[in-house]
Amino acid sequence: LSERLQSTLSKMRGKGKISEADVKEMMREVRLALLEADVNFKVVKQFVNDVKERAVGQDVMKSLTPGQQVVKIVHEELSNLMGSDVVPITFSQKPPTVVMMVGLQGAGKTTTTGKLANLIRKKHNRSPLLVAADIYRPAAIKQLETLGKQLDLPVFSLGDQVKPEEIVTKALEYAKTNHHDFVLIDTAGRLHIDETLMGELENVKTIAKPNEIFLVVDSMTGQDAVNVADSFNEKLGITGVVLTKLDGDTRGGAALSIKAVTGAPIKFVGLGEKLDALEPFHPERMASRILGMGDVLSLIEKAETQMDQDAAKELESKIRDASFTFDDFIEQLAQVKNMGPIDELLSMLPGAGKMKGLKNVQIDEKQLDHVEAIIRSMTKHERANPEVLNASRRKRIAKGSGRSIQEVNRLIKQFDDMKKMMKQMSGQMKGKKKGLGLP
Ligand code: GDP
Ligand code: MG
Repeated sequence: LSERLQSTLSKMRGKGKISEADVKEMMREVRLALLEADVNFKVVKQFVNDVKERAVGQDVMKSLTPGQQVVKIVHEELSNLMGSDVVPITFSQKPPTVVMMVGLQGAGKTTTTGKLANLIRKKHNRSPLLVAADIYRPAAIKQLETLGKQLDLPVFSLGDQVKPEEIVTKALEYAKTNHHDFVLIDTAGRLHIDETLMGELENVKTIAKPNEIFLVVDSMTGQDAVNVADSFNEKLGITGVVLTKLDGDTRGGAALSIKAVTGAPIKFVGLGEKLDALEPFHPERMASRILGMGDVLSLIEKAETQMDQDAAKELESKIRDASFTFDDFIEQLAQVKNMGPIDELLSMLPGAGKMKGLKNVQIDEKQLDHVEAIIRSMTKHERANPEVLNASRRKRIAKGSGRSIQEVNRLIKQFDDMKKMMKQMSGQMKGKKKGLGLP
């Protein structure tokens, strides 16, 4: 989706004047791109009409060229398709807040149940209870219990011989007596929608009186995801959608059609298998991402919260005069770790979607721990003056950190190389700025 839209839009961006024919041609490309991305055809039709109307009617903005305006309109309308704002979770006035997770098998219900509980505990300071109400899939209960253990969250289960309706009834009583103010119900899925499943879910809904019914859909399934959403919505009245596996090779079609077709907003997106890979959904950012502008906002925000501005400036000047020490190195390491997996970060950069190799970038977090252990075994003086690290000091550090002497040597060598490279880079940046076409 991105590539096609990107090239069409970049042609437009530069134009000083655009004719109606230009708009028409461009909208033809946009239409094709959306259909190719598996966006529902009714949605596409409506979308193209909306944009055309606005682009020709032109509410003119002085700061933009006509070409830029069309791009802006496409961007805005794309955001509107997905909902105009972030829609937060609805909490109950009277605890507990109950959330029911529904969806097809393999969509990511169980995983998302864990992720969401984790997020709510952290961000809203609640005490969640996970309820294992999928009694059909082998090992489903075990899966939730394992998640609970990993996250240190309680899981309510009565095994797989008790009906979901009864499990939920008991779970709610349990939540009340034990002061859990946020209850997440993990329900069963099927490979396809069927009446038995829907009947059971309707019963659970009647008993649980959920504040939210979240439909979990796999974004890789495109058009199918939308049909699924439609059926679930008809039977259960979903209040929100969680779109999973957006970290994969998705064409974006599901994200674009679901809101338009069901009326239910996408509230969260799953961006990986790790338990912190769940984020509130930002329609505008998703639109930028689809248009290939990269999710720069998300990236900046992420970097800003984690990285102190002043520290960044200081680092920059250190790089410039190459007075970078092991202390700086370890600080950097900590910041990289805080920002989360490197591959997730990189995927937010503009144009990164095209870099196929990116998926294989795997930074071994254990490796980072080893590096940290080695540096922590150095004295203050050694960290600031790496040149004093002779053989006996290295031996002592290896012992202290529990790593091999070869590992210690390798790290010091890498550090030296890095410093040399920094020196070179900062020299080049000063000398060749113009030649490289940098601003
Ligand atoms: P359920 O059958 O709906 O409960 O689905 P599960 O929670 O068991 O998830 C099915 C598979 O999808 C598991 O292997 C999960 O790790 C994986 N999964 C879930 N969410 C995401 C996501 O956001 N990104 C990726 N890459 N994998 C996910
Ligand atoms: Mg499950």
